[in-house]
Amino acid sequence: MGERPETLHEGVDESWRPSPAPDAVTAASSRPFRMLAAALVVGGSVGALIAATSVAQSDADTSRATFVTSSGAVASTLQLAIESEDALLVHASGFVLDHPESSNAEWVQWLTSRRVFERHPDLERIGLLVTLTPAQLPAFTIRATNDPSGPLEPDGTFQVIPPGDRPLHCFVAVQQALPDEVQIPAGYDFCADPAISKIVVTARDTGQGSYLPTLEELGKSGLIVQVPIYSGGTVPLTVAARRDAFVGLLGVQVGSSNVLDRALHGHDDLAVTLRFEDEYSEAQFSSGTMPEEWQSATFDLENGWTVETFGTASSDRVVDNRTALMLLGAGIALSALAAIGLVLATGRARALRLVAERTGELRHQALHDALTGLPNRALIMDRIEQLLARNRRLGTSGAALYIDLDDFKSVNDTLGHQAGDQLLVAVAARIAGELRDADTVGRMGGDEFVVLIDGATTDVAPERVAERLLQAMRHAFVLDGATMPIIVSASIGIAIGDRCTAGNLLRDADVALYRAKAAGRNRYEIFHADMQSEILQRVELEFELRSALNSDQFHLVYQPIYNLENLSLVGVEALLRWQHPTLGLIEPDRFIPILEQTGQIHDVGRWVLDEACQQMATWHASGDTLDISVNVSGRQLDGDDIVDDVRRSLADSGLDPAALIIEITETALMRNTNDTARRLHAIKALGVRIAVDDFGTGYSSLAYLQQFPVDCLKIDRTFTSAITTSAEARALIGTLVQLGKDLGLKTLAEGVETTVEIDHLRSKHVDEVQGFLLARPLDPTTLEALILVPARARQPATSATTAPGSASHK
Ligand code: C2E
Ligand code: CA
Ligand code: CA
Repeated sequence: MGERPETLHEGVDESWRPSPAPDAVTAASSRPFRMLAAALVVGGSVGALIAATSVAQSDADTSRATFVTSSGAVASTLQLAIESEDALLVHASGFVLDHPESSNAEWVQWLTSRRVFERHPDLERIGLLVTLTPAQLPAFTIRATNDPSGPLEPDGTFQVIPPGDRPLHCFVAVQQALPDEVQIPAGYDFCADPAISKIVVTARDTGQGSYLPTLEELGKSGLIVQVPIYSGGTVPLTVAARRDAFVGLLGVQVGSSNVLDRALHGHDDLAVTLRFEDEYSEAQFSSGTMPEEWQSATFDLENGWTVETFGTASSDRVVDNRTALMLLGAGIALSALAAIGLVLATGRARALRLVAERTGELRHQALHDALTGLPNRALIMDRIEQLLARNRRLGTSGAALYIDLDDFKSVNDTLGHQAGDQLLVAVAARIAGELRDADTVGRMGGDEFVVLIDGATTDVAPERVAERLLQAMRHAFVLDGATMPIIVSASIGIAIGDRCTAGNLLRDADVALYRAKAAGRNRYEIFHADMQSEILQRVELEFELRSALNSDQFHLVYQPIYNLENLSLVGVEALLRWQHPTLGLIEPDRFIPILEQTGQIHDVGRWVLDEACQQMATWHASGDTLDISVNVSGRQLDGDDIVDDVRRSLADSGLDPAALIIEITETALMRNTNDTARRLHAIKALGVRIAVDDFGTGYSSLAYLQQFPVDCLKIDRTFTSAITTSAEARALIGTLVQLGKDLGLKTLAEGVETTVEIDHLRSKHVDEVQGFLLARPLDPTTLEALILVPARARQPATSATTAPGSASHK
């Protein structure tokens, strides 16, 4: 179907950026290109058909046209879903090749760090199946016993299931599945089933991946996409060499009904069947209800996939269903004939215009994101190929910027998908507004965008572009129906220069993006080769965190909180620090997310509560009456244990419950509303107070907050730090304080660093303040020096922050 490659580049993207030079078509033999070309040809024939029906102008034709248009949209959504799973396999095989001996924990860590399950909402499982000869079994048994990919026997041993001698064993070496998926035991031997054994051997020997309906072993209907992986990264030329270099079969399991339901979203009147067939496998999935009287349309997505859609047939049709079907199936040649027919019937000019309009529309649909109108993943990949080719030819250097909004999920969760969609459209427009004509922006899905900077004409450094984009995000977004403007930030990963494929350039930009997120978000990072190893360092941190609690490597520092009116000291916030034996002092932003992911936050959080209550009780015993604020992570609120933990910490320390304040971030509050509210009420009943931390970043409304027993709002420090630069931030602080007053809550502003800020906060009647201007977090000894000297105890510790020792605690 690649007979007219130039059609891809001619005017496909009229609504957005000028098309690149046609000579970049050399890169066009790639697979995405073939899929695009196929979509275009399908689009061409469909377009012609629609043109024909429109011209005939009967109701039935209109209904057919509508049907075909929606069918085209459904087909292109499915095509993108398939491509996205293919892209995931490419990405994951890169990891497997770089880490052939990866442990299961490293595998899970990698998936988590790349947010793979978040980015692929249809993904249910991803793993690597390896083959072993009986001679290799003992070594694998040792490895799998220490680092199993799934449950072992109840006695902790690794046993082959079902037992037996076989020429070839197939085990899952590493995997991760969604929690409600079937657990595959580590010893489950897939090759005990001759049919599966044949699939595995065929894949290994041919180098061909395939699509399968989910295995019975996995208990439900779905789609498995699998590809063989060979050391060296390419498929060796001979069968013998393939057997030699075979690493394993990388597989993803996708919930086919999710994929189909998503494609049918907004097309309630359609049913759809997705089919795959090639030499090695076939599979079929359906969704939606078949109408009694139906018409259908078939789309060939190439490389084995077909989509058939079904809609209600119109009673009184001029064009017979079957004819329409034939027209559709016959592709571009027949669409040309249809156009000739039109010419005869209605006059050349009008017919040609209609054909052009409709064809353009469908072509646009296949290559653009429906929400923002930006080029989609498929078109972006093609554009990167062109960019790389052009830069190679001219000896220049382009760049890809991978942009991801920070915490977009909480916008969706709290304001709803409609607001989320509105925000994405607004973000897309802002990004586009910052670019030059030669640059391209596309949406990769979700809250991810890619900007391509054309090196050929550039004198602009990609870093400058990234800075401009970050700056552009800093102005609030005003959405219809939302109570307040929204402030979002973004993180950007940049990859500059040549790569052998578009996929590699994007992968590197994505690695840099991950770095930008890990370094605190709202920033950009440029890819460099060491970054892969930094990701591994994080894996190491995770391992070392396991023993940190038992080896007493954690300690608390305390940051003073002041009454704003008279600057008297009213309390302290306990903040966790990790003193690593070789890496030194590690800040919580680097390790708390890991503790949350691994679930260790429960134990560590309990320790923090105990330690903080103990310390404050000691200070109370010597005559102080300060409050102590303790941060509790959202994960800790996932279970009822937290209530007992608080009760026990109070009982063990003897601390007055009225002196304890539990801080919960606004986003954590939003997560599991009913259970969270119930647990907070139980904590509140102990006499403890509750503060909403990082307030303003979660966009909750007055009505929403009312269901929680909250005492204080801690206004996030991004608002405080924007006081001098942003009129919007100043206005927002006013709104947030007013919200607190309406609810009868105390308000506290975090992160006060300048006198301008503190003056502004005073003018807004904020009750309490906390920040480096007044005092940094201090270790207990330094703090005692402040507290125990009555004359100074109630004054800001500004001078003390410059004293030796105290400044080292950020
Ligand atoms: P947070 O709860 O918002 O804590 C305030 C953070 O702001 C602290 O960072 C503090 O050092 C910093 N800060 C205070 N004043 C200023 C200022 O004027 N300017 C600037 N730039 N920063 C200021 P830290 O200690 O690094 O903690 C970071 C986050 O880690 C905390 O944010 C909290 O979310 C989390 N965290 C810390 N300790 C714990 C803990 O024991 N449990 C849990 N679950 N989370 C904790
Ligand atoms: Ca806090
Ligand atoms: Ca905070």
